[in-house]
Parts: sequence; structure tokens; C-alpha cells
Amino acid sequence: MPPRHAMLGRIVDPRNGYEVDEAIATCFPSPNSFTREDVAEISIHGSPVLVAALLDCICGLGARLADPGEFTLRAFLNGRIDLTQAEAVQDLINATTLYQAQVAGRQRSGALAKQLKPVKELLIDIIVNLETAVEFVEEELPIASREKIIRQLEQARQCLREWIDSFRRGRIIRDGLSMAIAGRPNVGKSSVFNALLAQSRSIVTDMPGTTRDLISEYMDIGGIPIRLQDTAGIHNSDDQIERFGMDRSYEAIADADVVLLVVNIGEPRCQQDLVLKRQLADLSCIAVMNKSDLPSCWSSQEKAELAGDWPCVEVSAKDGLGIEELREMIISRIMGPDGTRRDGILITNLRHCHSLEEAERNLASAATALQENISEEFVLADLHRGLEQLDAITGETHVEDLLDKIFSRFCIGK
Ligand code: GDP
Repeated sequence: MPPRHAMLGRIVDPRNGYEVDEAIATCFPSPNSFTREDVAEISIHGSPVLVAALLDCICGLGARLADPGEFTLRAFLNGRIDLTQAEAVQDLINATTLYQAQVAGRQRSGALAKQLKPVKELLIDIIVNLETAVEFVEEELPIASREKIIRQLEQARQCLREWIDSFRRGRIIRDGLSMAIAGRPNVGKSSVFNALLAQSRSIVTDMPGTTRDLISEYMDIGGIPIRLQDTAGIHNSDDQIERFGMDRSYEAIADADVVLLVVNIGEPRCQQDLVLKRQLADLSCIAVMNKSDLPSCWSSQEKAELAGDWPCVEVSAKDGLGIEELREMIISRIMGPDGTRRDGILITNLRHCHSLEEAERNLASAATALQENISEEFVLADLHRGLEQLDAITGETHVEDLLDKIFSRFCIGK
């Protein structure tokens, strides 16, 4: 078969001569395949019965089913992709929004490794300079001054810090976040919940206290998966079940990354609204002034008092007014003013973030050692540890690079 050309044919089980299906087969001879091994792909009609028959036929001839992640593992072991790309394959498969898939897609194409490269090269350069100073002093080799190295390290640390900072947003894009809707009974929490979901999931009634348990739904705002929790209305009640519901509400509110405090501006302001505002003071909140379709019973001062320094939006859950504005406000509350439109590297993986933090600490400690005129061996130990941390992100090692550089630069052979 010609490499990488789809060919139409029939699949016949050689054990009994039965035709399994008409199919398209493509072969990818080594090394031009995902795993760098010889690979063949067969596409047949999407019937589970036919797929089972084909697998039975192939396995009967000596093949076996792949273990979970085996192809990606083989691609990594054969040097086709680095660790970050392998991890991104998993993120890509797990993505629930297009934006998540795009971010994972960038990483899968090696964006992180590409960005790390110049920082690693800089570190290797510094290490080579210092290493030669320690090992080959008698050769009088050109050694970059301590000040220059300190400046270079600061430059590298600046990059690392930016990436570490991006993890707050990256984590949200990868894992999503939770948002709770809080407020007194009957202010329209379930209606706001439904308007945001644009579907009727919560029960909406005129009776206060209907939402006794927590109702949650997933939604996609600007490509970020959000678990939205409607909570029981918080007010003074002797009803045992309602009190239980309210306890659950407080727990959900405390765990939420963002809280929407809904108030009803169609009725005069009530003391309980202000009590709730104070209780939520330490959380990341948005004030949602609902029922804006009714004549407002709140003065501008009362509205400003409730909002304080929180972002604030007037909506009518009933008519859908202001809901789009609320969505945008949620995104900028979570992701900052530029929302999801910011370019540049985004660290989405906790493992990468930990390695970057560790590497940054190692470089900081190397810089301090240089400033304090401590012997190069100690500086080098920190730099090697820093480089190891960066290598751990992509799963490479730079021992050979270091040796190559040292030997090529100083013509040891002669
Ligand atoms: P919750 O107890 O806070 O969850 O409140 P609900 O969502 O169950 O709403 C309570 C009542 O307020 C229902 O009769 C809703 O139809 C009504 N309601 C909710 N939002 C609005 C709104 O924006 N405008 C008006 N006029 N009524 C609303």
C-alpha cells in the first residue's frame, strides 16, 4: 500500500473466508506515524457489531487491544512528543468546551516546550560558563561576570513568574469553576439560574422556600465550564428542613469561586439583603439586581450601598434583560478584564506549575548565592536543580547538551 493514502477494499477474515465489511485502510510506515512505529488505520461502517467482528478477527490473528493511553505513551517513549504534549492529548479528550480544546490543542502542538526552550538554553549557557570556571580554571576560560549572570537569571525568573501567574487562569480554563447563586427567598434566584442556563431546570414558584436542596447544572460561559449552583433562600426560619437546606447553601457559597448575590429591586430593600452582603464580604461576588422590569423601589444610594466595591448589574430574569451583561461580568470577574482573549502561554496543569515554582526558587537561590559571592559549586547545584525541574515538565534531560557544549567550546580533545 502507498504510505498515508486511504485505500478502499474489503476485509475478509482469513480464518473462515467471511467478509467483515467494506473498509478504508491507511498505513503509516515508521517513522512517519503518531507513535513513530508502523501503524495501520482501518475505518469501517460505524456498527458496534462490525467493530466487534473486526477486532475479533484482528485479535484472532495475534494482535491485542491497546491499554489506556498506550499510543500516546509509545509516542512519548519513541520521542515523537514530549510529556506536555502527551498530557495535552488527555486534556483535549476531556475538553467540554471549544475554548478548552483550543488551549489543549496549542499545548499538544508543543507550544509550552517551545516557550521553555530559550529559558532552558539560557540556563545551560550559564551552567556551562560556571562549570568551566570550576572544572577548568587553569585553561583561563571566558567566564561571564557574576553581575551579568545575575541579570540573566532575573530575566529567566521573570518568564517563570509570568507563567506561574497564568496558572490561576489556566486552572480555571482546564478544570472550570463553581458559582453559587445566593439571596433571600423569592428574589428570583432560580429565575436567574434558569436565565443563565437558558433552560428550565429549577422549579420556579411563588411560594418562598421551594428550592430546599441544591440544584446544580453545568454551563459554558466564554468557553469556561461553570458548575452553577442554585441555593435555598437564606432567611430566618424555624422549619427544620429549610434550615438544613440553608446550611447546605452556606457550604456551597463558601466553596464557590464566584457568588452571585441576587436582590429584588421591585420591592423595598430589606435588612436581610444587607446582612447577606456582610456575610459574603470576603468572597468574590457580583451583585445582581433582579426584577428590573418592575418600577425600582431602591434609590441609587441603596443600590450603591449594596454593591459596594463588587461589580453590579441590573437584570430582569423574566425578560432576559441584562443576562448577557451578567455573563460578561462573570467572565471578567474570573479571568480579569481581558477575559479569555489574552494571548501568550497559559499554564493549565498543576504539575507544570509546581515544577515552574520549584525552578523559580532554585534560580532565586542561585542569584542570592552569586550576590553573596558564595562559591560557584553552590550556585551550580541550584542551577542544575532548576534545569532539572524545567526538564521534568517536558520529560527531557539536558545532560548530553551540557557535555556537548562544554566539550565543543573548549576543545578538550586537543
Ligand atoms: P427564588 O426563590 O429566589 O429562587 O425566586 P424564583 O426564581 O422562584 O422567583 C420568585 C418569583 O419572582 C416568581 O414568581 C418569579 O416568576 C418572579 N420573578 C423572578 N424573576 C423576575 C423578574 O425578573 N421580574 C419579575 N417581574 N418577576 C420575577
